[in-house]
Amino acid sequence: MECKDAIRMIHPYLEHALSVEETERFLKHTESCASCREELEIYFTVMAAMDNLDRDRNVSLNLKGRFEEQLSESRRELAFWAFIRRFRHAALIGAWVLLAAVLIIEIRFLF
Ligand SMILES: [Zn+2]
Repeated sequence: MECKDAIRMIHPYLEHALSVEETERFLKHTESCASCREELEIYFTVMAAMDNLDRDRNVSLNLKGRFEEQLSESRRELAFWAFIRRFRHAALIGAWVLLAAVLIIEIRFLF
């Protein structure tokens, strides 16, 4: 992914509007690109501060902590979806093995 693509994805990422695959590629880029990560943190800080103004002015503004928490949450979600993908893959293989076994048994009954 190039920086211009990552920059374009910052807002959708913060709005939770990216697909799992897009989030994965986006986070991978921001983990290795200091410039885009800084840009993401700036967007996050501005959006969180504006959100705070709209809601409750007494809420703590630990924006750095909230930024890190959002990244951790995204990584947890990606790990969950990676698990689901692996499970689906294993279930599909299991279904094919079962189908093959049934076909073999049926063919043996024919002869
Ligand atoms: Zn970049």
